[in-house]
Amino acid sequence: MKPNSLQELYVEQLNDLYDAEQQIVKALPKMIEAATSEDLKQALTEHLEVTKTQATRLEQIFETLGEKTKREKCKGMQGVLAEGSELVGEIKNADVRDAAIIASAQRVEHYEMAGYGTVRTYATLLGEDEAAELLQQTLDEEKEADQTLTSLAGQINAEAEGQPAESEKPSTRTKSKRVA
Ligand code: FE
Ligand code: ZN
Ligand code: FE
Repeated sequence: MKPNSLQELYVEQLNDLYDAEQQIVKALPKMIEAATSEDLKQALTEHLEVTKTQATRLEQIFETLGEKTKREKCKGMQGVLAEGSELVGEIKNADVRDAAIIASAQRVEHYEMAGYGTVRTYATLLGEDEAAELLQQTLDEEKEADQTLTSLAGQINAEAEGQPAESEKPSTRTKSKRVA
């Protein structure tokens, strides 16, 4: 059934996010396993726990609304995750692979941020204040995860490029050629 009111569109979008979160819960362990950097592994592991909480928040909202979750495939998230795992699986160099995991994970976070910003706005408009607060909480967490990834990228991208990161650069610049 196609949504015919903002309320119905709200529920449809919540369902889409709920399925997206479930997909992420399934995908993250594989990303953690593929990661080499301990910091990256840890950030992804923490976000896996956070993601489970986010799914629970959505269940809470459905319960308050008296709606059942539908679990329709979020094809957008499915595509983002599939592209990420295909790419990561093909990369042999550990630093480059970590950089690719970050690239993929940040796409995931931004996709989620778009979705949560929308439903948070709908919730406020519909007078669902408690839900709006829960959704804002999740939105903040997604932003935080994205920022953590950005800061990890500072180091990891530099390593992937074959150079020491900014902070590790010796004061006298020596050309560091990598030994394969
Ligand atoms: Fe999430
Ligand atoms: Zn979707
Ligand atoms: Fe997330």
